[in-house]
Amino acid sequence: MSIVVQKYGGSPVADATSIKRVAQRIVATKKAGHDVVVVVSAMGDTTDDLMELANQVSPLPPGRELDMLLTAGERISMALLAMAIGNLGQDARSFTGSQAGVITDSEHGRAKIIDVTPGRIEAALAEGSIAIVAGFQGVSQTSKDITTLGRGGSDTTAVALATALKAEVCEIYSDVDGIFTADPRIVPTARQIPRISYEEMLEMAANGAKILHLRCVEYARRNNMPIHVRSSFSTKEGTWVVDAESVKDGANMEQAIISGVAHDRSEAKITVVGVPDKVGEAASIFRALAQAAINIDMVVQNVSAAATALTDISFTLPREDGQKAMTALARLKDDVGYERLQFEDSVGKVSIIGAGMRSSPGITASYFESLANAGVNIEMISTSEIRISVIVAENQVDAAVNAAHEAFGLGSDEVEAVVYGGTGR
Ligand code: ASP
Ligand code: MG
Repeated sequence: MSIVVQKYGGSPVADATSIKRVAQRIVATKKAGHDVVVVVSAMGDTTDDLMELANQVSPLPPGRELDMLLTAGERISMALLAMAIGNLGQDARSFTGSQAGVITDSEHGRAKIIDVTPGRIEAALAEGSIAIVAGFQGVSQTSKDITTLGRGGSDTTAVALATALKAEVCEIYSDVDGIFTADPRIVPTARQIPRISYEEMLEMAANGAKILHLRCVEYARRNNMPIHVRSSFSTKEGTWVVDAESVKDGANMEQAIISGVAHDRSEAKITVVGVPDKVGEAASIFRALAQAAINIDMVVQNVSAAATALTDISFTLPREDGQKAMTALARLKDDVGYERLQFEDSVGKVSIIGAGMRSSPGITASYFESLANAGVNIEMISTSEIRISVIVAENQVDAAVNAAHEAFGLGSDEVEAVVYGGTGR
């Protein structure tokens, strides 16, 4: 029998009524003749609420205890879901991440899955049960402590289990109908994408699209596991995330050059002003940031003015790391001899993504023209083979996303997007 893994996010299981609705969908899948493994997130905002509680009792909760606390959220939803399914006359059994064989390293709060040994899940399926697994958690191979995979990590649990179980598909249910050409809250005419390649989805996820966890897409690509993104509130077809060949096979029209526009408001920009233009200066700046464990995104170094031999180096980083970065750089002032630091957190990143741009000249020009026509000023630019990103003022993000969406003809004539629950999880 073919195995289907279904993952339900926080909004689909936000309350008892929703849990009962999800239970029906799961039972229907089982009755259609599949073995079903379900991965579930914590109900609604539970994880945020638990986090908030932790911060009330301790300013810096220890990672081990925080993980113990947060994983309780998924244990609540998994047990309730198993009960609801049982009530519909199907046998269902819930398992913690540890019981399901999700083995991780011991980095609390951002553990990586190193192995999946789903013996108990296979045994439950063999006995005709539906297996419900708590998402976002595992157990450390070395310390045997409970770990979490980072916020949004249930998607990764689902893909990892689907891979280990050789499932046919990993279905990810949230409260939106699939992946859209842009965030429908910003672009009301955004179109739902029927199929998208792993590489494009990776760029979307890495550049602000929140619908899938980045690591889950990486995991799926490595193992060629098809992901089917759907809403638990509708029966619409949703979006398939698959390899590039399957995208081509499934497209009955010509492949779009640009698949979507992503945006991200979580970054900040730091400029190191007046850096002496000498060998090794950039290296010491970025070494200091690396030592502070800060992930850098874009970097721009200006040409130095001939008269002064001084240059400016700007880079972007996660906004939440801004203070840490400024402190690390301040310590370098005398060594590097720069003039001053400038911190700006009211920036946003807007990216166009599409595998078709590899073979179509002029995409950069059209993109930048659309921004210019919308009166949007570009502060920084970075590109990959299939993506062009710009940093703009935060209050121009919406205008930029709309302009790019329009310029590449991505809009639909009617409003397709329906947001059911509201959180996008
Ligand atoms: N409940 C966790 C979170 O809110 C994990 C997840 O939903 O994927 O981040
Ligand atoms: Mg999610």
